Amino acid sequence: METEDECPGRDHQCGTVKQRADNSSARSLCFMHNRDEIMAKPDQQPVEEYIKLALAIEEHRPGYLDSYFGPDAWMQEAKHAGKIPLPELTKRVERLSSDISQADGMEAQRKDFFVRQVTAMQMSLRLLSGEKVSLAEEACALYDVIAEWKQEAIFEEAHRELDQILPTGDSLEERTQKWKSSLEIPIEKVRELLPVIIEKLQGLTQQKFGLPQGESFQVKFVSDQPWMAYNYYLGGYRSRIEINTSLPLTIDSLVETVAHEAYPGHHTELATKDEKLVRQKKYEEHVLTLINSPACVIAEGIATSALEAILPEKELEDWYRSELLPRAGLKGIDPGRITARSKVVQKSAGLEGNAAFMLYDQHKDPNEIRSYLQKHGLYNNQELDHILRFISNPLDRSYIFTYHIGHDLLSGLFSRGDGVVYFKRLLEEPVTPSQIRGWIKDKSS
Ligand SMILES: [Zn+2]
Repeated sequence: METEDECPGRDHQCGTVKQRADNSSARSLCFMHNRDEIMAKPDQQPVEEYIKLALAIEEHRPGYLDSYFGPDAWMQEAKHAGKIPLPELTKRVERLSSDISQADGMEAQRKDFFVRQVTAMQMSLRLLSGEKVSLAEEACALYDVIAEWKQEAIFEEAHRELDQILPTGDSLEERTQKWKSSLEIPIEKVRELLPVIIEKLQGLTQQKFGLPQGESFQVKFVSDQPWMAYNYYLGGYRSRIEINTSLPLTIDSLVETVAHEAYPGHHTELATKDEKLVRQKKYEEHVLTLINSPACVIAEGIATSALEAILPEKELEDWYRSELLPRAGLKGIDPGRITARSKVVQKSAGLEGNAAFMLYDQHKDPNEIRSYLQKHGLYNNQELDHILRFISNPLDRSYIFTYHIGHDLLSGLFSRGDGVVYFKRLLEEPVTPSQIRGWIKDKSS
């Protein structure tokens, strides 16, 4: 791993408003590495058209492409063409959808992935054209999931559990904030601990799932972003991971961030798919990732399950006790509280989705949304600003659902079989939420 202090700043967010994107600045940085040698003569017209359409939509909505390592010439061509009229793009996407549906000989799993990515593209164009749709309809077309209001009883139950977990004190909100403060570490400690955490999680990932040979990433510290961390896959098994230092960093969030963004989260998934799908199978539609597509549900499901996939709870607690807490200089912290609280927080994930429903479908006043989030999420003002900023971005308004829906979907899958085998399949195959629901149904029947 290399680290750098300065970064021109780009973006991705994921987590409890932990880590994802607004992608508006310096986006060309994402396209540093092209793969002309691999895609010199694509023999599949739909794949080429899909990639060119994605590049054309990026011209209308910067940040639409989460990563791209296809031919540099195609990107330059798209930039030169600029904003192709939306009705023209809509017709092309409709034609592509029909071509793929009728394509003979395309392997079924690949075809399902491809068709659903194109369905998402159609919705992106409708939204760009100014069409008004409900958030649930948007999420269904973009992500192949059902986004629903999460009942407050879930958050109330979480509060009862937190009351048992957190050290005693005044109100639950104050106790929560105090607990987070007790786990904060200064940036010098973050720099010191990052290589330790990365080495451990890389080793465990290699051991359990394998990693492409020569994979690596660079870490950059940035500020003033709507996410906590972001992984930019650059091609060639390399990523750049940015960590936002505007919000306080805690020892537990640092461990979760490395798992989520790198091992065995986003970096692992994209490098593995590059190797297994693009290079080995020539499924070249995977030279890019779209920020608003079903693949995001799988990506965030993997990332939010990443730590538990490689470290059982007791081993994680032992690691905190024997190494991380002492090295961070944190005394008197019970690691059992860290893991117990993390599980409760995961159960309450989805609160931010309610906030998105309030903002877009119910047209509630932002102050009312802040009060709602504060009451149920026990957030402070800085955290509330961060969440509101995230869901206010057109690219993120429905993306917020991918975290908890992705996590719940994969948990349902892992509970029905060998979690390691399924996790590895998710890293290596073109999977959609519909396919996973199918796998679960097959196992249940
Ligand atoms: Zn993420």
